[in-house]
Amino acid sequence: MTAQGTTTATLADVVDAVHRRYDPAAAASWDAVGLVCGDPAAPVRRILLAVDPVGATVDEALASGADLLLTHHPLLFTPVTSVAASTPAGALVHRLIRGGCALLTAHTNADVAREGVSDALADALGLTGTTAVVPSAANPGAGLGRVGELAATVTLAAFAESVRDALPRTAHGVRVAGDPDLPVRRVAVLSGSGGDDLAAASLVGADVIVTSDLKHHVALDNLAAGGPALVDVAHFASEWPWLPLAARLLSGDLVAAGFAVEVAVSEIVTDPWTARA
Ligand SMILES: [Zn+2]
Repeated sequence: MTAQGTTTATLADVVDAVHRRYDPAAAASWDAVGLVCGDPAAPVRRILLAVDPVGATVDEALASGADLLLTHHPLLFTPVTSVAASTPAGALVHRLIRGGCALLTAHTNADVAREGVSDALADALGLTGTTAVVPSAANPGAGLGRVGELAATVTLAAFAESVRDALPRTAHGVRVAGDPDLPVRRVAVLSGSGGDDLAAASLVGADVIVTSDLKHHVALDNLAAGGPALVDVAHFASEWPWLPLAARLLSGDLVAAGFAVEVAVSEIVTDPWTARA
C-alpha cells in the first residue's frame, strides 16, 4: 500500500512505530526481538514484511528497494560470536547491509499483542468475540492465543476445509486429529508452535484448536485426555495472516505521523516443507 506523507521517516521512527504496536518488553525471555542490523538514522521509504528472514525474502527486499525488512522470526535466535559471511545467517546480514536494508524482528511480542499474530489468524478463520487463551495480566485484550466462535456450527471435516481455504496454500496442508463428524463452533488458535499450550486451550472450552508443529505424543495425549480436536497447519501458514494486518497498521501509523512510506507484504511461501510424496 502506498500512502502520502510529507517527510521521510528514519529507521528509528519506524522501529518506534513497530514497537508501539508490538512492545519488545512483552516478548518471551528466551526470544530475540528488535533491530538486527541497520542504522537508526537511515531513511526508510519502503518496508517489506515477511514471516522468515531467509534468502528468498532478502532477495525480494533488495530487489524491491526496501530500506527495511520486518520479519516475524528472528535471524539470530541464539547468541553468536560472529556474523562472518561464511555462515548462513552472517551472509544474509552482509547482503542486507550492503544493500542498505535494515532487518527488524517482531516475534513473541507480536504473538501476544492485540492485533497481533493470533488475532490475525482468528480473523482469517472468521472467529468473533475473541479473547486471549492465556490473558496478559498487564495488557487487557493481549495474551497468548485467541479463542472465539464461528458464525455457525460445522463438522470438524468442513472446518478443516475452511481452514485450508483461508490460509496460504502449503505442501504441508492441513492435518486433522479427531472425529471428522464432530460438531465444532468454539475455536482456539495458537499461532506458530502451540504444542505446549493445548491444555490452556482446552480449559477455555475450545471444540477444536488450530496450531502448528504438533508432535505425535502431544497430539495423542491431548486426545486421550478428552481434549479438543486438533487442526495442524504449516507453521508459516498460521503466521502469514499477520503480515497484511501489520502492514496496514504500520502504514496507518506512519502516515498519521506525516511520513511518506510504502509498506509491502511478501507472498513467498517460506515453509521449509515444499513437497509431499
Ligand atoms: Zn513462528
